[in-house]
Amino acid sequence: MSVQPIEDALARPLRSLRISVTDRCNLRCQYCMPESDYVWLPRKDILTFEEISSLVDVFTASGVNRVRLTGGEPLLRKDLPQLVHLLAEKPALSDLALTTNGFLLTDQATQLLEAGLHRLTVSLDTLQEDRFTRLTRYKGVSIVQNGLAAAKTAGFNDIKIDTVIIRGVNDDELIQLLDYARSIDVEIRFIEYMDVGGATRWSTENVFSRADMLRAITTERGPVNAINEVSSAPADRFQLQNGQTFGIISSTTEPFCRSCDRSRLTADGLWYLCLYARTGTDLRKALRGGASVEELGDLITAVWTARGDRGAELRLAAKDRQPLIPIETLQKEPHLEMHTRGG
Ligand code: SAM
Repeated sequence: MSVQPIEDALARPLRSLRISVTDRCNLRCQYCMPESDYVWLPRKDILTFEEISSLVDVFTASGVNRVRLTGGEPLLRKDLPQLVHLLAEKPALSDLALTTNGFLLTDQATQLLEAGLHRLTVSLDTLQEDRFTRLTRYKGVSIVQNGLAAAKTAGFNDIKIDTVIIRGVNDDELIQLLDYARSIDVEIRFIEYMDVGGATRWSTENVFSRADMLRAITTERGPVNAINEVSSAPADRFQLQNGQTFGIISSTTEPFCRSCDRSRLTADGLWYLCLYARTGTDLRKALRGGASVEELGDLITAVWTARGDRGAELRLAAKDRQPLIPIETLQKEPHLEMHTRGG
């Protein structure tokens, strides 16, 4: 059941919705949540599963056919498989994925698969325990690896690893991470360090670019071939001589705004059209205020058709690039945080 998607001002379709189910996280990654204190969303504002499901129905009627559950850490949301089940029953969704840090995956993998989740992305930035602790403030390489193994055993056959590469932090680990991904038969995607809200320690010097990554991999593993494919996925894919494939998400140095069909719903129902957007549309207020399905659909159409966002491109053009949002502003407006908006 395919709905003709509405298009924005740059003719980009509304196709992919990332839903943050909680702003809470059980890790404190230095590129995302490096501060000691955070302002959390009020509990009463967090959308119920029924509210999320109702909004997804409105989105699918406007063209959305892919949903990714994220956060914060989505597996911290109580009874998450119930939401997965509600969403998996919607015929309009051809893709239902989840991004997790993997800490709670061992316990939940089977339930998530049984509830109907299609795909999993697990974040893992290093295989070195001491480095992991420096990056996240917790010990956990083997916990994440066990989570990946549990997901495989449960029967997930589309699992990816996402790895943020930061110069001077883990840029010496690309080959080990590639080898690890190959050993468990999972595709890895290397992500450039982005200057999104929350990345208060970001600097251009710390960005290990797509070109740097390809150079490092080629030096060790020989020629790398780009895979030619038409896709709205954020990663460009490559193949090594041994057949292994991997991806690179180069939002910082080679943004892909022109094909971006993604938008984001925060756990409290604010809808953002771009990871870099300063303001969002309050769908919770409309929903709880009694807006009809048609009124919500009209609101979504009006907002999306006016969309001209291309945040990553504008950031690339910015001179003297610094962290996107100062910490004082983030403390006043937590919706600007990556962990609230959903990565
Ligand atoms: N807790 C889940 C996890 O760890 O995957 C989901 C939320 S997390 C915000 C989603 C993704 O955003 C992760 O893969 C994380 O690495 C990525 N991310 C967060 N901050 C980033 C940054 N400054 N640059 C690039 N990627 C970032």
